[in-house]
Amino acid sequence: GQCRIVCPTGAISIKNETQKVWDALYDKNIRVVAQIAPAVRVALGEEFGKNPGEITTGKIVAILKKLGVDHVFDTSLSADLTVMEESEEFIGRLQRNENLPLFTSCCPAWVKYAEDKYPNLNKNISSCKSPQQMFGTVLREAYNQKDFEDGKDTFILSIMPCTAKKAEAARKEYIHDGIREVDVVLTTQELAIMIKELGIKFDEIEEEAMDMPFGIGSGAGIIFGTTGGVTEAVLRRVLKNKYGKDDCKIIFESVRGLESVKETSVNVDGREIRLAVVHGLKYADNLIKQLQRGEKQYDLIEVMACTGGCIAGGGQPVPKVITKETRMLRAGGLYKIDKSIQIKSSDDNYAVNNVYENILKNNRHKLHNHK
Ligand code: SF4
Repeated sequence: GQCRIVCPTGAISIKNETQKVWDALYDKNIRVVAQIAPAVRVALGEEFGKNPGEITTGKIVAILKKLGVDHVFDTSLSADLTVMEESEEFIGRLQRNENLPLFTSCCPAWVKYAEDKYPNLNKNISSCKSPQQMFGTVLREAYNQKDFEDGKDTFILSIMPCTAKKAEAARKEYIHDGIREVDVVLTTQELAIMIKELGIKFDEIEEEAMDMPFGIGSGAGIIFGTTGGVTEAVLRRVLKNKYGKDDCKIIFESVRGLESVKETSVNVDGREIRLAVVHGLKYADNLIKQLQRGEKQYDLIEVMACTGGCIAGGGQPVPKVITKETRMLRAGGLYKIDKSIQIKSSDDNYAVNNVYENILKNNRHKLHNHK
C-alpha cells in the first residue's frame, strides 16, 4: 500500500471490512491488488447520478489508484479462465456421459443452496472455482515469489456486486495455511460509500485503464455479469468453427434476456446438447424438481441466484425499486462493453494464455475445488 489520499478514518461508517482495506493501503510492506467484477462497472454510477448501465470502468480504476491500490485487474479475465476450465470439464463429461447435467458453479449463493438442499447434486456441480476465487488463486501464484523477494505481503481486494461473495471468500477450502485466496470483498455499495466519505468528485475523475498482465478480459468474460452470459461464453468457445456467424447469433439471442428459464439446444459433432439458463433460486428449485421427475433433460444448466444475474446482486446500488428496466439497462451496459472489445471468445484472450503458460504452468488443477 502507498495510500495517496488521507482517509478520514473517523468518518468511515462501514468500519469492519473497509478498515482492513485502509490498514493494508497504509502499510508500506503490503502490496494491494484489486479485481473488479463485470457487473460493478455498469451500476456504480447510479450512486453518483448516472443512469443504470452507464459504463464507469475507467473511473473505478482511477479511484482505486487514488486510494493507493497498486494494481487494478479485471475479473472478466478470470471469468475467461472459468470458461476454459468449465468447457473442458463439460466436453469431458459429455464424452464419458457422466455427471450430467453439469451445473455452473460461479454463483456462491446457488452453490450453498444446492449443498444444503440437494447434496446429491454435488457431483453435478462444476468443480471450477468461481472467477473471484480463480483470480485469487492466480494472483497468489503470480506474487508469491515476488513477495518473498520484496519482503512484502500481497493483499487481494475484490470489488463485487454481491454479498454472498464475502462468505465465499471466507470458506475454509479457500484458506491455505491461514492465507485467504481473497483477503477482503467490498460490494459496489461499499465502494460507493468509501468514495462519498472521501469527498471524491465522481464526475471529475479522469478515466484510467486497468493494469497488465491481468487487466484484459474478452467480451465473453464481461457478459458473465448477466443471466445467460456464462452459457453464451461457453457456447462462443464450443461452437467456434462449427456454426456460422448468423446461426451463432440466433443461438446467443436465445439465452439472453430476463425470462426466468431460457432453453436452447445445439448440435456438436452429431450430438444434441441441451442447455438451460435459470436465474432466481425459486426457478432453479422448480427446474431441479422437473429434472427429478424426469420431465426435463439437460446437459448444461446455468444457475444464478439473483434475478437478472450479478447485475442485480445484493451488493449493487439499490434504487427505490429495482425494475425490469434497471436490470435490462445494466445488462445492456455489459453487452455494449462486449461489442467494444476485439476479443469475443475466452480462448482468444492472450492474457488467458499468459496465465496458463507463465503463471499456473502445471498448476491448472488449482483452479478447481477438490472436495
Ligand atoms: Fe452473487 Fe447474485 Fe451474482 Fe450469485 S447471481 S454471484 S448471488 S450477485
